[in-house]
Amino acid sequence: MYRSNTCGELRLADKGKKVTLAGWVQKSRKLGGMTFIDLRDRYGITQLVIDGGADPELLQKAESLGREYVIQVSGEVLERQSKNSRIPTGEIEIKVESINILNKSVTPPFTIEENSDGGEDLRAKYRYLDLRRPPLQRALALRHRLAQEIRTYLDAQGFMEIETPYLIKSTPEGARDFVVPSRMNPGTFYALPQSPQTFKQLLMVAGYDRYFQIVRCFRDEDLRADRQPEFTQIDCEMSFVEQEDVLNTFEGMMRQMFKNALGVDIPNPLPRMSWYDAMDNYGSDKPDIRFGMKIHEVTQLVKGHGFSVFDSCDYIGGIAVSGCAEYTRKQLDELTEWVKRPQVGAKGLVYIKCNADGSFKSSIDKFYSPEEVKAIADAVEAKAGDLVLILCGAKRKTQTQLGVLRIEMGGRLGLRDPHTFAPLWIVDFPLLEWDDETQRFYAMHHPFTAPKPEHEQWFYSDKKEDLERVCANAYDFVLNGTELGGGSIRIHNAEMQSRMFEVLGISKEDAEYKFGFIINAFKYGAPPHGGLAFGFDRVCALFGGQETIRDYIAFPKNNQGRDVMIDSPSRIDQSQMDELFLASTVEE
Ligand code: ASP
Repeated sequence: MYRSNTCGELRLADKGKKVTLAGWVQKSRKLGGMTFIDLRDRYGITQLVIDGGADPELLQKAESLGREYVIQVSGEVLERQSKNSRIPTGEIEIKVESINILNKSVTPPFTIEENSDGGEDLRAKYRYLDLRRPPLQRALALRHRLAQEIRTYLDAQGFMEIETPYLIKSTPEGARDFVVPSRMNPGTFYALPQSPQTFKQLLMVAGYDRYFQIVRCFRDEDLRADRQPEFTQIDCEMSFVEQEDVLNTFEGMMRQMFKNALGVDIPNPLPRMSWYDAMDNYGSDKPDIRFGMKIHEVTQLVKGHGFSVFDSCDYIGGIAVSGCAEYTRKQLDELTEWVKRPQVGAKGLVYIKCNADGSFKSSIDKFYSPEEVKAIADAVEAKAGDLVLILCGAKRKTQTQLGVLRIEMGGRLGLRDPHTFAPLWIVDFPLLEWDDETQRFYAMHHPFTAPKPEHEQWFYSDKKEDLERVCANAYDFVLNGTELGGGSIRIHNAEMQSRMFEVLGISKEDAEYKFGFIINAFKYGAPPHGGLAFGFDRVCALFGGQETIRDYIAFPKNNQGRDVMIDSPSRIDQSQMDELFLASTVEE
């Protein structure tokens, strides 16, 4: 054994013990004739001390140590003179008796400490050095803990962990596929799974009624908004269940994860909100319910007073921002510019200041009497001291813009503490979504989602309004304004699945070519089934109180989808191209 203890282990109770440690030299400093070294491993940091009167050979060795040298030291545990209460080993130090240099290191390109001086790109290039830092070690340790909790919970519930293939055929999660050329089948390609959706459903047909997998998925999307081209799902499916069973099972899993990994109790049962209520009240299908500031429609109150902007639109809604009536002209102008940015997309912003003295000042005073302004403020539940912000336009679009504004204002007011957890289920999603541009329906979740049984008659109707009314037993698990997972009760009969492809404008031939295998499987006694998947990377990040998933993935890609450490993607040899029957159209 190279060590008797780790660098995070020894305490005052170990005083007097002879120990051997191994680790990396984080830093070394000389002070009053003594040499102090911080020795680090993933368990912590232990201070080593060599006093000036020590054996000259030992002293010389200690002085030769550079940052990140790997050493083994033996010595005695002493009580420290000046204790450091910020680290668990801060009451002791090791009086070094021998040093064995196990490996040297060139000077690292950035400091490897809690906070590094290295920029993001540099740290990505030397990811293995960045991973030595405590914040990343904590992140990966949390990820590990959560994965264990998931396995323990699901195993106890009778789920089987079954692997599904990576070299498959296109799956319908709505993103672009990554493809892999097949050398043995010239001119053909595998697609990497966007999710194991079809396979897990086939496992249900095969009778494995409780399946799960912590599995890599691949989606070739633009990497805005903290996405990774390969990411991990907790993928699950169950047979002979209704929505209620799925929600209860996975609520239980989340409850256990919160409890055992964070010591946090989440509400039991979790709140549920319909998709329609979420859109109407929060302007988002992933509402952040850590704070109120709900959206209120004021169309009827506001329309028809000669203000042409309002008179010409179908929806007018507002939010009351607590305590912001003091916003200055400049702040309001800045906020107006903010809502006009393409990311929000509003045309303008109307405000009402509800002054502390009970009076009102608004940007539309010309068109409304003080009583009318008050009525609008009341309708959005504004109190004295609040700032009412109003947007107008097409209903869902405006609600979405108000939702974005709400999140922004919630952030400004400090209402989005990452260590406060407000999970909920969003349920009753519409089955289909009409797209004006392509003039066709898209599946809101995916094409394997079943209509609610009570809406089936509309599902078989040819009228657009009927199809728009169909809801699904589809559900999302939402935490703090982020969708962490989602799923649905599936179609399990071949005829209904074919109807779905028809509604989505997928021709019989195309459906047969892409999904013939699953339609066919449904002819052989497919049980009723449903499931869901959670985005595991994001679960980890949110549990860790962080917004970005990158720190929770050992070797992530950057915003351009590149791994700058191994320099990938990269070109391949002509011979490899030839073998795969590929030709590039990119100019060298
Ligand atoms: N396959 C779905 C997804 O990746 C999840 C599910 O429906 O189970 O979003």
